[in-house]
Amino acid sequence: MTAARPTDRRPALVESGVSTRVRVAIIGGGIIGLACAWQLLRSGCNVTVLDPDVAGGATHAAAGMITPSSEATFGQEPLLAASTASASRWPSFAAALAADSGLPVDLRRAGTLFLAADHDDEQVLARQARLLERHHRAVERLPGRATRRLEPALSPRLAGSLLIADESSVDPRQVARALRVAIARRGGEVLSAPARPLVRDGRSIGVERLEERGAAGHAGSAGHIGQVGTTGADVTVMAAGWATTALAAGLGITVPIRPLKGQVLRLRPSAPDVLRHIVRACVHGRFVYLVPRPGGEIVVGATSEDVGPDSTVTAGAVHDLLHDAIELVPELSEAALVESITGLRPATPDNLPIVGATGIDGLVVAAGHGRDGILLAPLTAAAVVSHVLGSAPPEQADAFTPERFAVKERA
Ligand SMILES: Cc1cc2nc3c(=O)[nH]c(=O)nc-3n(C[C@H](O)[C@H](O)[C@H](O)COP(=O)(O)OP(=O)(O)OC[C@H]3O[C@@H](n4cnc5c(N)ncnc54)[C@H](O)[C@@H]3O)c2cc1C
Repeated sequence: MTAARPTDRRPALVESGVSTRVRVAIIGGGIIGLACAWQLLRSGCNVTVLDPDVAGGATHAAAGMITPSSEATFGQEPLLAASTASASRWPSFAAALAADSGLPVDLRRAGTLFLAADHDDEQVLARQARLLERHHRAVERLPGRATRRLEPALSPRLAGSLLIADESSVDPRQVARALRVAIARRGGEVLSAPARPLVRDGRSIGVERLEERGAAGHAGSAGHIGQVGTTGADVTVMAAGWATTALAAGLGITVPIRPLKGQVLRLRPSAPDVLRHIVRACVHGRFVYLVPRPGGEIVVGATSEDVGPDSTVTAGAVHDLLHDAIELVPELSEAALVESITGLRPATPDNLPIVGATGIDGLVVAAGHGRDGILLAPLTAAAVVSHVLGSAPPEQADAFTPERFAVKERA
C-alpha cells in the first residue's frame, strides 16, 4: 500500500479572499459513514454521503453491544484501549445525536452477564475474568443463585457468571435513523447511489456516481456499470464496509478487509422485559449472546463464518442459535421468531479497523471495524474529523493507521 500521510485540509479554505467550507464526500452510509458525516457537519464541513442502501449493510444486522470488556481477548490490547475509549464517548454521542435529530437514541446501560452453562464453560469465564482483572476492569464473579437473582428468567442449571456492570447497548437501526435525520438537519446530503473515488493527477477530487447492475448489488465495483455523474469534493472518505477493499484496489491501494458472515435472530417473547442485562455465554463451547431491546425484543447472535460474501440464512445456524438461547432462557421457546438475517462484518487481519490517510492526497479510509463497528463509531468519527481537518486524531485511534499494512508489505 502507498505510504500514508496526513491530509493538510482545514475547516475553511480561503481562496482569493472567499472562504468556502471543506466539501467532503463519503462513500458508504453504514454506521461508520453516517457517524463521520454527522461529526464532520458539526465541525463545519459540507458533506455528501453516497450509498444505494443506506444502513443496509452490517449495521442493519448488528446487535449493538457496546461491550469492550466482554469482547476483550488476549493479545488484543490496542483494540481493548480503543474500544474502551470509544465506549466512554457513547453517552455524550447518544445525547448529542438525540438533541440534533429530535429522535430517541436509547443507550441501555444495564451491563453484561457473562454466563457458563456448565463447569467446562466455567473455564472460559475464569480466563476472561483473569484477562479483565489484569487490565483492572470492574468485574464481579457470581455463583448461579446470585446470577438468577439478577435475571430470574435464566435457566436454574447455570453454573455461574461474570457481571460486567459498565457495559451497554444501542439499537443500531435506531441510531442510523437518528443519524440520517441529524445529517439532514445540519444541511448534509444523502444520495442513493453507489460510488467510487475520483482521482486525477494523484489527488482525490471527489467521487463518480455509478449506475447499479440490478441484482448484482453494490459490493465494491464489481456490481457497477457506467458513471452517471460526479460529485466534487476536497476530501473523500471511503467507508463502504467490506466493499472498501475493491474501491481501494481500483486505485492501487491495499486495504485488506474480508466479509465475515454473521447470522443473527430476533425473538419477541410473550412477556415484556424477559431480560435486563446483555447475556453472553459459552454454551458447550459455542459462543452466543442475547441482547434485549427497549421494546422487549431479544437479539440472538451470532455466527462467525469465514465464507466470503454469502448472505444465506442457514437452517443449522438458526437451529444452533435457538438451541443455545433456549438453553440459557428456557421461556424463549415460546417467543415469536420475528427475523433471521445475515450481515457481513468488515474484518481485517489484525481485528483493528483501518482509519486514516491513504497516501493519495484528499483520500481517507474508515473501514474494517469487524465485530465492533457500533462500539467504535464515536472514536472513528472523531479520528476522521481530525484526518479531514488536519488536527491530531485521538491517540487511542493511532493503532488504526492504514500504514501498518504498508510496513508489513515492505518488510
Ligand atoms: C451479526 C452481526 C452482529 C454485530 N454486532 C455488533 C455489536 O453488537 N456491536 C458492534 O460494535 N458491532 C457489531 N457488529 C459489527 C458492525 O455491524 C460493523 O462493524 C459495522 O456495521 C461496520 O460499519 P460500516 O459502516 O463500516 O459497514 P456497513 O454497516 O457494512 O456499511 C457499509 C455501507 O457501504 C455501502 N456501500 C458498499 N459499497 C458501496 C459503494 N460502492 N458506494 C456506496 N456505498 C457502498 C453499503 O451499502 C453499506 O450501507 C455486528 C455485525 C454483525 C454482522
